[in-house]
Amino acid sequence: MPFILDAHQDLAYNMTVLGRDYSLPNAQTRLRDRQTGNDAYGGGSLLGLPEYNAAQVGLVFGTLFSVPERRSNPKLEGEEYYRTPAEAHRLYWNQLDYYHKLAETQSDAFRLVLTKQELKSHLELWQSETDGLKPLGIVPLMEGAEGILDLDELPAWWERGLRIIGLAWAGNRFCGGTREPGGLTAEGKDLIHAMAEVGFVLDLSHMDEPAALECLEIYPGQIIASHANAAKLVKGYNSNRLLSGEVITKLIARDGLIGVLPINVFLNAEWQKDGGKTAISLRMVAEQIDYICQMAGDVRHVGIGTDFDGGFGVEQVPAEIDTIADLPLLFPFLEELGYDSKEIDRIASGNFLDMIETTLPA
Ligand SMILES: [Zn+2]
Repeated sequence: MPFILDAHQDLAYNMTVLGRDYSLPNAQTRLRDRQTGNDAYGGGSLLGLPEYNAAQVGLVFGTLFSVPERRSNPKLEGEEYYRTPAEAHRLYWNQLDYYHKLAETQSDAFRLVLTKQELKSHLELWQSETDGLKPLGIVPLMEGAEGILDLDELPAWWERGLRIIGLAWAGNRFCGGTREPGGLTAEGKDLIHAMAEVGFVLDLSHMDEPAALECLEIYPGQIIASHANAAKLVKGYNSNRLLSGEVITKLIARDGLIGVLPINVFLNAEWQKDGGKTAISLRMVAEQIDYICQMAGDVRHVGIGTDFDGGFGVEQVPAEIDTIADLPLLFPFLEELGYDSKEIDRIASGNFLDMIETTLPA
């Protein structure tokens, strides 16, 4: 079974805001959530260490994520949101600290993967035969650059372990974002120039199309979309969250990578009226992957970015998925579409592993 790298999970947010403990089996998290009412956040959790192990999901890009006050969720008690860049800075930095704390206090369950050496030893561990559960590796990814107060602090973020920055979630002072259109601002341009100097990967997910296209023109470093689908295949879709054909074409030309999203609303925007969870199959995820591979003419520009538990629980993912343990059920659909095991390995993790290996410092 292939090793899987998942290019997008909001682990720190879920663990700090909702108090979820992903070292536990998923069933325990669901039980606890029912008791605390936490499943109001997107529904039943999909994650847990035994389930990561069952699926061979051994490495994730774990986000630093927070929301501006205007997009906060009134139903979510204990939600942390920011009113000012200084508050955003504090929340984002705290989540990066949280990953360090996890790796220190629960090293059997979590480890940070911040260097080439750490990546090598983490992959060796996952290839070895061991009794018991293997720890989940985490590469930190900032979702929404509001946490960056000043460009001078970028080296400190890198030093502390941040490796990937997405400028947008909502729109902000750097660029337009989901449901808040806009291009790249002067501040946004300054930010990406400073990011390139340090060597960050740039994540286009959530950026409005004009901003994404501008980044594809001017960012000299590695570009990805950690969690996004091709808008064209999505029935009834009329927002700016997913990728246009032009963005995909240019991402491929820039040797970028797209983590395809197994979330129902991003596979069919009308899924609820079309029959709900049971009407959406992982086959549609395989079709998204195939579409990008057909555009590229190869299997080198696509991977998986589930965003599981990122406001999307079990009720909102394809029929075959009860927990992340079921993610490998995607692969038979790729086989049906003609992909062989080597190609499936590239999609499951090989492409993102090569990308992050190049990015990480020695
Ligand atoms: Zn997101």
